[in-house]
Amino acid sequence: MEKTKEKRIRRLKRKRIWPSVIGLFVIVGFILVAIVGEFTTLFINILSRELMYGYRLSMKVAESYEAIGEDNSRTPEQMVELYHDMMDELEAVCVYGAQGEILWSSSDMIPKKEEAVTAVLSPMGKEVAVDMVLSESVSLFTIDSNGDMEINEKLLAMIDFSNIYRDGNQLLADEDIWYLIPMNEHTVCVLCKLRIYGHDLQMAVLGMSFLVLVVVLFSLYYLWTLVSMVISQKRTTKIIYTDMITGGENWLAFIRKSTKRIRKVKRGRANKKLAVIHLRMKKYRSFCTCFGFIKGEELIERIYLLLKKQMRRGEVLAHHEKADFGMLLSCSGDEELILRLTTMLQKIDSSFPEIKLKFAIGVCYVEHFHDDVEDLYNNAVLARELCGEDKEPQIGFFNIEMSKQRLWEQKVEADMERALENREFQVYLQPKFSTGEETLGGAEALVRWIHPTEGFVPPNKFIPIFERNGFILKLDDYMLHEVARQQAEWIEQGWKVVPISVNVSRAHFTREDLAEHICEIVDQYHVPHNVIELELTESAFFDDKQVLLTTVRKLRNAGFSVSMDDFGAGYSSLNSLKELSIDVLKIDADFFRGADSLDRGMLIVSEVIDLAKKLNMKIVAEGIESREQVDFLTDQECDMIQGYYFAKPMPIEEFEKNYKKI
Ligand code: C2E
Ligand code: CA
Ligand code: CA
Repeated sequence: MEKTKEKRIRRLKRKRIWPSVIGLFVIVGFILVAIVGEFTTLFINILSRELMYGYRLSMKVAESYEAIGEDNSRTPEQMVELYHDMMDELEAVCVYGAQGEILWSSSDMIPKKEEAVTAVLSPMGKEVAVDMVLSESVSLFTIDSNGDMEINEKLLAMIDFSNIYRDGNQLLADEDIWYLIPMNEHTVCVLCKLRIYGHDLQMAVLGMSFLVLVVVLFSLYYLWTLVSMVISQKRTTKIIYTDMITGGENWLAFIRKSTKRIRKVKRGRANKKLAVIHLRMKKYRSFCTCFGFIKGEELIERIYLLLKKQMRRGEVLAHHEKADFGMLLSCSGDEELILRLTTMLQKIDSSFPEIKLKFAIGVCYVEHFHDDVEDLYNNAVLARELCGEDKEPQIGFFNIEMSKQRLWEQKVEADMERALENREFQVYLQPKFSTGEETLGGAEALVRWIHPTEGFVPPNKFIPIFERNGFILKLDDYMLHEVARQQAEWIEQGWKVVPISVNVSRAHFTREDLAEHICEIVDQYHVPHNVIELELTESAFFDDKQVLLTTVRKLRNAGFSVSMDDFGAGYSSLNSLKELSIDVLKIDADFFRGADSLDRGMLIVSEVIDLAKKLNMKIVAEGIESREQVDFLTDQECDMIQGYYFAKPMPIEEFEKNYKKI
């Protein structure tokens, strides 16, 4: 359950943050790549334009040189004249012969062929250029047969972009580029300046800077949104993991932290024991009834804080619900753990001198690092439930038997509704015999579960579970229906019926209209009320005395016989006899266990019988197994006997066969 919640929270967190973060990176990355791409294209266009200009100029020089020399009559004067015409645009011109010798040069700055060609151009493409130049020369660009220009990256590397902003007139590129134009018999080499100024790019840079600024602002805004989202998520997380009563961590946090801790410790240190603790403050409801819920919650908060102070590093504590707390403690074994828990209780005790608080504790050790915290806690709860009330300190340790019991409980709970629908619960009847004549005087209806896979299941294996989960209310109603229906059937068949008693669990005594409810069921079958007896346990007297007294009075007024079951078992109180007027007292079977007629138990039985007689009650002795006991009870003028000596509980068909013969 808690795990599902935890998963949902995690999914919620992941869903909101990650798409936004990824989205931001993708958008910003995309825009930046686009900007850089656009800028590079722009720059290359400018560069190509400048290079193309130099190239065209060089071609013009080469062609003019070819033209004046067509008749092989070039003279230095003609060359000087030609050079002078273009000298504003040219830096230098030189002509190489077929063997690489310099035929003519415009200045002393004669480019040595080896280094002259730091930049090489071949109008016909790269391959030709390579042929034309020396090995160390680099072709900075080439023009293919379609006239498209391809610029070598080395040329781009020569350019200093850092100046663009400082000064638009700053030269970004100021390179001497030798254009090498191969002609028929010679090569014309023209030196042009490649100049690119900052202002050529400045507008583009400004535009792009603006874009970058927008991107940055957008990113900042987005980041801010993300940060606030994370902050608000952290806050939400804090709320999700906070207990509203104690202000500390809540149950979800307990499960999360404990799970992490268990995984960590169990993988690491094998000698360290971890224990999941369930601690319950007893009688919290009564405390709230007396002092109110606000005081109750304040008390829980104070207990939480006192416990918190005693937690060691890595240990976990949380308020679970009502007056329950969960803890994950580390210890070396039972002894140390009991000592710690007792110390905790003592500290709480000394902090509340004005009230006596009582606690019950369940412990379940962690065995495997993959153990589920909720299961461990439930085991600890079971250990607390099964630990005796009178133990001091009341600490119960979970064991494997309890685990089997839990599995059985889970099975019972899973099957019970279906069992009721499929009529798997069967009524068994145990006869009650009168003393003296020893004839059938009544019977008790006892339930049996005929389970489709488990077979015959006795009531002690499921009644206590039903009493805990409330299903006993449905089962008792079912039994009452079955008994009333059976009595109606027998009456209709003309048989002489004896009263059949039905057990009424103490859980029923929370409803004030219990008597009306019982009447309503029985009346559906139109049977006289005196053929039904209702067995109440004495313990119901201690729950809600008033409801019990009123119900008994109403039931007796309605003509039902009411008996007090198990008298003398558990905490019996003669006081209940004083206040409660009932018809039958059933003396508990425990009085007759391992006892002979001289036993103290027998003495008490005879006194109880005497007392009941004086109070006008009938006596039924339960669990009678021997002739001796029967004789003793007959002597004591006990009215009826129920026990294996006469008969065990049996199915209705058998009861009919044995006792309904006309
Ligand atoms: P209980 O109401 O005290 O029922 C008497 C129990 O004592 C029955 O056990 C019965 O079989 C047993 N018993 C009778 N005579 C002897 C005897 O001579 N020797 C021994 N050793 N035992 C004897 P059972 O049927 O197992 O029922 C156990 C308990 O389960 C009942 O105790 C009753 O508290 C509860 N129970 C059974 N059926 C119902 C039901 O329909 N509703 C409720 N609420 N409780 C039921
Ligand atoms: Ca009974
Ligand atoms: Ca009984």
